[in-house]
Amino acid sequence: MPLPPSPQPSPARGEVAVGGGSPAPLVGVLAMQGSYREHLRALEAAGARARLVRTREDLKDLDGLVIPGGESTTMQILLERMGLLESVRQAVLAGLPSLGTCAGMILLARRITDGRAGQQGFGALDIAVRRNGYGRQVDSFEADLEVAGIEGGPFPGVFIRAPLVEDAGSTEVLAWHDGRPVAVRKGNVMALAFHPELSSDLRLHGEFLRLVRGRKEKTAA
Ligand code: GLN
Repeated sequence: MPLPPSPQPSPARGEVAVGGGSPAPLVGVLAMQGSYREHLRALEAAGARARLVRTREDLKDLDGLVIPGGESTTMQILLERMGLLESVRQAVLAGLPSLGTCAGMILLARRITDGRAGQQGFGALDIAVRRNGYGRQVDSFEADLEVAGIEGGPFPGVFIRAPLVEDAGSTEVLAWHDGRPVAVRKGNVMALAFHPELSSDLRLHGEFLRLVRGRKEKTAA
């Protein structure tokens, strides 16, 4: 079920709620390139505070991170150029709840086929992906997906030059399309081959925020 928007005004960066109720979680959206604005809007609509991440400073105090769709090669080059690649990788590997969509899924992967020379995923998820693996004929398509743990009927999956998951490794597969995994999760890291931010359906952002809140409560305890 989509979460209701937070009734609280967003506290300032790093502010801690005093007495009664915890503040909405603060989720960063990597904003090098791609569909980061759409993720920002979806996260806010699903009840989070959201912040664009462009510098190392922006990674501070985050409760979660979204790596959007776009072009994984371009995104990686920009991350390198901004000196952010290593910090983002380390934050994700250190357990920051993370959601990667499409190109973001590629960045989280352990193995990338058909990437640019030297393109390497963070290895945050034990998956092997083939870039643009759905082939030219089906560059972009929409498909109704049954997603484990998501109630209320199928989720509208928007696929755009999506990565093909060739091996889901030790991850839990949350959704399949045509016999291939298209949504996977391991611990606090989730990856989707499609673009939930381009549909108006907030259920997957809501599900990610559930992971984020779970981790936040655990670390606060
Ligand atoms: N084909 C893109 C890549 O390899 C991903 C496409 C997308 O994010 N929509 O990075």
